[in-house]
Amino acid sequence: MATDPLHFLKVQRRMPQELSVPVRVLGFSEIYGRFEAPEAADQASRCIDCGNPYCEWKCPVHNYIPNWLKLVQDGRIFDAAELAHETNPLPEVCGRVCPQDRLCEGACTLNDEFGAVTIGSIEKYIVDTAFAQGWRPSVAPATGHRVAVIGAGPAGIACADRLARQGIAVTVYDRYPEIGGLLTFGIPPFKLEKDVIRTRREVLEGMGIRFVLNCEVGRDIAFDQVVANHDAVFLGLGTYRALDGDLPGRDLPGVHQALPFLIANVRQELGLPPLPEAPLPDLKGKVVVVLGGGDTGMDCVRTSIRLGAEEVTCVYRRDEPAMPGSRREVKNARDEGVLFRFNAQPLEILEGPEGVRGVRVVRTAASAGRRGDVRAVDGAESVIEADVVILAFGFRPSPPAWLAAHGIALHADGKVALADPQRFRTTHPKVWAGGDMVRGADLVVTAVYEGREAGDAIAASLRAGVTVAVPAATVAA
Ligand code: FAD
Ligand code: SF4
Repeated sequence: MATDPLHFLKVQRRMPQELSVPVRVLGFSEIYGRFEAPEAADQASRCIDCGNPYCEWKCPVHNYIPNWLKLVQDGRIFDAAELAHETNPLPEVCGRVCPQDRLCEGACTLNDEFGAVTIGSIEKYIVDTAFAQGWRPSVAPATGHRVAVIGAGPAGIACADRLARQGIAVTVYDRYPEIGGLLTFGIPPFKLEKDVIRTRREVLEGMGIRFVLNCEVGRDIAFDQVVANHDAVFLGLGTYRALDGDLPGRDLPGVHQALPFLIANVRQELGLPPLPEAPLPDLKGKVVVVLGGGDTGMDCVRTSIRLGAEEVTCVYRRDEPAMPGSRREVKNARDEGVLFRFNAQPLEILEGPEGVRGVRVVRTAASAGRRGDVRAVDGAESVIEADVVILAFGFRPSPPAWLAAHGIALHADGKVALADPQRFRTTHPKVWAGGDMVRGADLVVTAVYEGREAGDAIAASLRAGVTVAVPAATVAA
């Protein structure tokens, strides 16, 4: 593909310039800069067009990666943006937050010996540049169909994008004051600046998509009404039941759940008033312990550093190779001064005179593999001192009661059970679903994939003129 197939030997893998550690910990700006055109073309030219693009297969949305790398080499940014959007309704977001080391870049033929092509950064470059130069996605003439999307997270946005492009009028409902779901109210700005979501919102609104925000379906508007007013409905409600490990001491002052903590910080960054039930704690000069080693845990430790904590430790019950999050984020956390305590299982949060005084842990041994059994080592207990403890144990499905009341079947664990898993159709004939509420807490790119597939399936079903009779039993009050 490159004019010189051995270009990768002459040009090394390079990420866009990073903010230095002392600068980045002073604020919440994204830590990676952006490629300029020559750099992007140079990095894209490292692709050897290996003929069997494993990167495409490993990418959950199966992006046409070598093809858009070639367009970047040729400076054809609008064509690259068009192609990127064929498979991915949120390329500029995935380019920033996908764990590329486990996905596309991990599968790049050059990865082991020469360093993978910087696929994520180039994907971000394509769309940021195309938007700045005025490119916008094209939209088909109106079909007269109307679809409601509930949840403006990546699954809902991806579904809305696919529908709007096919001429379907889309209304997206969300209980939050801004679109994005966890992209806005979860993932911190140092990974994804909120202007990126604002730009995407402008683009989506320009495509005719209508957002009804600060509107919780089931509270501010009845689900029945949404179903009755539209030809089809897509659900992308996410998963929000935080796990607390039943840890003794979890209700002490100074103990915080990860997501409310991150949301409080984002609200401050966005200039929104704090939520009375979860104000942002003052971490200046405090010793913070974060329990949990996934992406959420990494976001909490790095946010704590930026909020002025004196010492921040991540406690994880397995070893480092078993950590579920992106390697890149663990490295960034370490570079920013976060300490790690591996093979430590929390047993109890200890009370001190002013709230928390520490966490009692026991050393663990785990059998091989990411999900191997973890067992406590007898007599190996210790206390990690802390003023503040943040619980980042993960999330479980949180289906609202009205789902089951409307004949939308759920699995025993609360995830939505699909009647047609290929097309993301639920057991309600007018309702589709995707993202975390279907597969459990996962990734932005997998939510995007499911929203995209559901959007195409809804459009196909409406095109085919399938009129859907809603069985009386599913129309609950
Ligand atoms: P969500 O993003 O949760 O969106 C659901 C939306 O539905 C929300 O906006 C919510 O307000 C709305 N909603 C819910 N109920 C209602 C209702 N009744 N009425 C109206 N609106 C409703 N993934 C990555 O790939 N990379 C990362 O770096 C990464 N970091 C993460 C960091 C954190 C802290 C967390 C928590 C997750 C992270 N993830 C990351 C995971 C990723 O964010 C999720 O997998 C993804 O956002 C799921 O998308 P979704 O659309 O299914 O749900
Ligand atoms: Fe890689 Fe994610 Fe982009 Fe796919 S969507 S090419 S996995 S960064």
